[in-house]
Amino acid sequence: MSGKNQVSGEKARKPIGRPLTGAAAAAASAPKAKPRKAPAPKRPGRPRLVDDAAVAAIVRELHTLYPEAQTALLHEDPLQLLVATILSAQSTDVRVNEVTRTLFRKYRTAADFADADPATFEGEIRPTGFFRNKTKLVIGAARRLRDVYGSEVPRVMDDLLTLPGVARKTANVVLGSAFGIADGVVVDTHIRRLSFRLGITREDDPVKIERDLMRRVPREEWIFIGHGLILHGRAVCHARKPRCSVCALATWCPRNGVTVSA
Ligand code: SF4
Repeated sequence: MSGKNQVSGEKARKPIGRPLTGAAAAAASAPKAKPRKAPAPKRPGRPRLVDDAAVAAIVRELHTLYPEAQTALLHEDPLQLLVATILSAQSTDVRVNEVTRTLFRKYRTAADFADADPATFEGEIRPTGFFRNKTKLVIGAARRLRDVYGSEVPRVMDDLLTLPGVARKTANVVLGSAFGIADGVVVDTHIRRLSFRLGITREDDPVKIERDLMRRVPREEWIFIGHGLILHGRAVCHARKPRCSVCALATWCPRNGVTVSA
């Protein structure tokens, strides 16, 4: 194609305006600086430990908030609480109670659980999850109770820890809530989260958290503090969205308004 109005490619690429000189030309030819990233939002670090007076005030406030605090697992005797606690791993208390309402009518003694047909038992506890493993643990614990402890749940931590499926958390639940024995502090997911946020501990490991709770909370409160923190964790200090603006413990809490994780 040719003619007067044809625009050549060369002509089209010609720069518009006067050529740059001096500093302006140097600046134009210099490699472009990368745009700066906006600084990442600050994540809260480990909360400071609160002092003993604050721990005492937190315990007092928990008593005011939850005067009737106790385990939500339905049970009528230590054996039922032991079984319910084993079933509660990775499950909810509501789900466990739905299952045990029927289960405890059928299995009444350690021997009943010990002699349970595993396949049948698996079906009966299935809604609590991990039903195969829990079946082994419950039947195994019941056999040991029957064969070694005269079908009674022992009241001693070291004896409880010999039962399949029983670690310190379950043993503390049974000792505290079935026998009223304060030999340690229950550390579950709520207690772990709240004792950390509230600055009672800076540990992540449940055994070390329990050790801190036992050191910082008077023994006569060991059973209560577990129940109180669990209830507060469920009602207010949720894992993902703690409701700090309505929290009665906010006065003492180092994470008041800043908790986004942990
Ligand atoms: S102030 Fe917030 S982070 Fe602290 S205990 Fe209350 S809800 Fe949890």
